[in-house]
Amino acid sequence: MSYAPLAPPGLAVEDRTQEIARELLERARREHHHLTTLNRWTKRVLAWSLSDAQLKAGVLRFIDCLPSLTTPQAVARHLHDYFPLHHLRLPAAFRLGVSLSRPGLLTAPAVSAVVRHIVEQVARQFIAGSHLHDALGLIHRMADRGVLVSFDVLGEQVTSDDEANTSVRRYTTLISELSTACRRLHAPDAVGDRPLVHLSIKPSSLSAHFDPVSFEESVADALRRLRVIARDAVDHDVAITLDMEQYRLRDLTLELARRLLVEPGLGERLQLGIVLQAYLRDTPQVFGELLSWLRDHGRRLSVRLVKGAYWDSEVAYAKQRGWLLPVYHNKRQTDEAFERLTEQMLSHRELVRPELGSHNIRSIAHAMAVAESLGSSKDAVEYQLLYGMGDAIQGAIRQLGFPVRVYAPLGELIPGMAYLVRRILENTANESFLRQDLE
Ligand SMILES: Cc1cc2nc3c(=O)[nH]c(=O)nc-3n(C[C@H](O)[C@H](O)[C@H](O)COP(=O)(O)OP(=O)(O)OC[C@H]3O[C@@H](n4cnc5c(N)ncnc54)[C@H](O)[C@@H]3O)c2cc1C
Repeated sequence: MSYAPLAPPGLAVEDRTQEIARELLERARREHHHLTTLNRWTKRVLAWSLSDAQLKAGVLRFIDCLPSLTTPQAVARHLHDYFPLHHLRLPAAFRLGVSLSRPGLLTAPAVSAVVRHIVEQVARQFIAGSHLHDALGLIHRMADRGVLVSFDVLGEQVTSDDEANTSVRRYTTLISELSTACRRLHAPDAVGDRPLVHLSIKPSSLSAHFDPVSFEESVADALRRLRVIARDAVDHDVAITLDMEQYRLRDLTLELARRLLVEPGLGERLQLGIVLQAYLRDTPQVFGELLSWLRDHGRRLSVRLVKGAYWDSEVAYAKQRGWLLPVYHNKRQTDEAFERLTEQMLSHRELVRPELGSHNIRSIAHAMAVAESLGSSKDAVEYQLLYGMGDAIQGAIRQLGFPVRVYAPLGELIPGMAYLVRRILENTANESFLRQDLE
């Protein structure tokens, strides 16, 4: 099937988009008085790390390596390397901290403990917890607000078979414990036809050899483990979504989804989802091919449309190799592609269950306006937001009667660091919607 060109959005859709966006913004502002997007303290830390490009690079590199620094001396040494007192305009308190943390000084352990504490405080804004009771607590808190949850077990890109097997055990334990606990608590399995327990899975956590260079072997190795998780998910009525990671892993991830969907005895029972990234130039073509495949095989799939979380690393990776950029150059192109893909997704509801992963009021309002123009009911699209980001927007969407799911990472701080670094990049990118204050 070829990808049908879309008609330019009608004026009615544009007018309604703006009307709904105003309404959402108004409600989000009211919610904002008691729900902050990020707490003030985290905002201050993020604003400070953005104040200078060199400083931002230092903060991100430091956070990235902090998990592997096992002694206060190592923390002190890295503080000195990444925050040179002569070159950076550092706040007075931080300058004092860096000088007190010199590896030879007795104050180094105290400063190292303070630094770890600060990083943990920021991480807690984005990571829901590390225990089953944290997950259950969140399901309950969110259920009170009419919001569903998808859990993500932190940790990605495993480097050994043992690590990959551990990932599988984490996923299957979470599936059985969450569904058992929900049943014990008499929580319904599904809200409407939406599953209460939902898991997001990083394909790179399923195989130490997940590499397009050896495509068949990679798919076979990851599929072997994914099958175990999928069977458990079916047995416990849990839905799973394969998260989308770097561009180079995209085709492997889609192939995994296709293979699972045709597994005898499993494919037709599994509630499976994939993610499409609007910042990739070839996503419309890939989506068109996926729709044809679904039609030919008589399958339906959940599709979470996002803009894409790896923009900086995709650009760096392609530039290092002298390749054409797979992603758009400027944010506006990504935003426009997101809207075209939203229309495409909503026009094929017989093949896909649409989900929209965005905190951007314009992008969300546009999806609502398109769904309305197609005569769809309010539950045609599930609106998804990241835990700790956009709480006020989440409340506004619920108030208008649309389904909302929060994507909540679970796990320890240390394996969560890569995730945290990405969240920080998103929150401090100049063009990010979340930097625009609701006040
Ligand atoms: C529930 C949920 C699940 C998610 N799952 C995934 C996933 O599996 N895989 C994944 O990759 N991401 C995922 N994301 C993250 C998502 O891709 C975005 O990074 C994030 O939501 C920010 O986009 P926005 O629409 O909320 O905000 P906006 O501020 O409107 O958009 C920011 C986005 O615009 C794009 N952008 C920024 N600068 C430029 C530029 N110069 N040129 C081109 N594009 C640019 C980037 O994609 C950036 O993330 C998920 C998000 C949510 C809410």
